[in-house]
Amino acid sequence: MRKDLRKDLRKLVRKAIRVNSRDIENLDKEVFLKCKTIAKHIKRNKISLEEAIKLPAVIIGGLLWNKRKIGITRFLKPPIAPKLEKALNKVGVIGKKVGENTVGKCAEVDCANYLLLNCRSNYEVSDIKFSTPYRPRTSEIIETCENCKKTFI
Ligand SMILES: [Zn+2]
Repeated sequence: MRKDLRKDLRKLVRKAIRVNSRDIENLDKEVFLKCKTIAKHIKRNKISLEEAIKLPAVIIGGLLWNKRKIGITRFLKPPIAPKLEKALNKVGVIGKKVGENTVGKCAEVDCANYLLLNCRSNYEVSDIKFSTPYRPRTSEIIETCENCKKTFI
C-alpha cells in the first residue's frame, strides 16, 4: 500500500476514536459514520484486505457518568478495574479463549475498563451504556459476543 494511503487510514482511525457525543444515540451515529468513512476510504483506494485487517476488528462507544470512550479490540492490559476483572473471571481466564473470543480482548472490555477506572468506584459494569459495535473496515454491525453478554448483564 502507498505510504500516503496508509497515513490517511491511520488518521481516520485516530479520528474514529475521538468522539464528541454525550448521549448514546448520537454516539452510535458518530461511531457508525466514522466507520463508514474508513470503509469508503478502503474501497475507494482499493486497499487490500491484508492491510485493512490490521485495523481494529471492532470499535464501540461507551458512556458512564460524564465520561465517554471508544473501545477497540485489543488485549486487556493492567491496570484492570476490579469490578470488570470480577465480571470477566466469571466468563473465563483473562487472555484465554472461551468460545469464539479471547476473554478480555473485546472492544466492549477496552471501553469498560477505561470508563470504570476513570469514574467513581460505585459504578457497576452493568451501568455502562454501549453503542452498537461496528467493524471499521466494513462499517458493518457486529453482534455482541457471548462472553460480553455474560460480562455486561
Ligand atoms: Zn465480546
